[in-house]
Amino acid sequence: MSQHRSAASAMIVIVVAGVIAAAYFMGRSDERAGRSFALANPAQAAESPAISPVKARPRDSYFPNSEDLLPDEMRVIACGTGMPTARPSQAAACFLVELGNGDKFLFDIGTGSAERIAALQIPYNFLDKLFLGHLHTDHFGDLASLFVGGALMGRQKPLRVWGPSGEKPELGTKYAVERMREMVTWDLAGRRGLVDERGYHIEVEEFDYKAENKVVYKENGVTIRHWPAIHSLDGPVSFSLEWNGLKFVFGSDTYPNKWFVKYAKNADLAIHECFIAVPSLIEKFKFTPQTALAVGTQVHTPPEGFGKVMSLIKPRMAVAYHFFKDFDTTASINDRIRSTYDGPLSLAQDFMVWNVTKDEIRVRMAVVSEEVWPPPASEKPMPPDPSRRIPFSKEIAGGKLDVLEVLQPIYDEINEKYGTNEKPD
Ligand SMILES: [Zn+2]
Ligand SMILES: [Zn+2]
Repeated sequence: MSQHRSAASAMIVIVVAGVIAAAYFMGRSDERAGRSFALANPAQAAESPAISPVKARPRDSYFPNSEDLLPDEMRVIACGTGMPTARPSQAAACFLVELGNGDKFLFDIGTGSAERIAALQIPYNFLDKLFLGHLHTDHFGDLASLFVGGALMGRQKPLRVWGPSGEKPELGTKYAVERMREMVTWDLAGRRGLVDERGYHIEVEEFDYKAENKVVYKENGVTIRHWPAIHSLDGPVSFSLEWNGLKFVFGSDTYPNKWFVKYAKNADLAIHECFIAVPSLIEKFKFTPQTALAVGTQVHTPPEGFGKVMSLIKPRMAVAYHFFKDFDTTASINDRIRSTYDGPLSLAQDFMVWNVTKDEIRVRMAVVSEEVWPPPASEKPMPPDPSRRIPFSKEIAGGKLDVLEVLQPIYDEINEKYGTNEKPD
């Protein structure tokens, strides 16, 4: 259906705008075909594309930094889908939303997710907007890593964080983020005068967790709203992000609730927790039956509940996360969801990628390198101001070995190569 539609629009462009437009479209079509197998010519649609022995074929996997985001496209990447204790295959909750207008947003930053984000090789200046659904560590445990590590990796602007208030000030996002900032006091003090310090700032915007479908962000054609979630204590929220006629919804954690059913309606991509099934919580997570039932059905949404919610909101794609996705647990999660929901479904795992346009939602896995280095900074870094350094005490400075003879050649090498005139202390 979508292929025919894009093929038909191709014909209109060619007829109306002539050779130049046709050339432009073919280029764009090739670009899209590399990812979605759309074909420009209706005649070609009936045949399978020729397979060349020398040309690259469209990929079934997503390789970071290898595909342009189209102007009308949303790309969502799971950077954490698991539990409070990150494990090699699954960090805790984090989803990245990338938009064709250039904007990028992080939703939750659970333990271990900063490593997943690094694997995507995105310049950190573009990763300066974080929305927190609630303050469990599996949803914000890597905040310090994104804050400090992101600045070191090239973010030259403050990290902006949005999150809910709580019943009392100390249960709100502002309190949590300010204490995190205090926790890294020594870390930041030690970096003064050594690095570009512009990224080592954090700005918090706390909003009323009880507000219903309230706009918390509206810039550059993007509108983000929040509504209450029901989870552990008062405070958690869910979010929607609307842009260019596309709607993304992120539940964070919640018991099935009326607000999600109301405000997540018509979502293109609806992400909602789907907790580990109760029998697995007992057998594999070693919970007692009492704890498993309380946590798995009263604090969280079990797979059957996830299915129920999705059958009510009917998204173009339902995304289930927050379970350990293993060979011996996935079938049961799927069966339980399917007992209450028969629509489009992704059982999320880390590095799952959704390319969302009005025509189609393509789901793939990313293939990442484990040896990633920082991406380039999107703006020129500033050299540090050494006068800001906090010196060692006399006692500690007095313990330095005299190693000038090994340091001087390093300075000579760098000064010669980069035209600088730096001297060892
Ligand atoms: Zn939680
Ligand atoms: Zn959670």
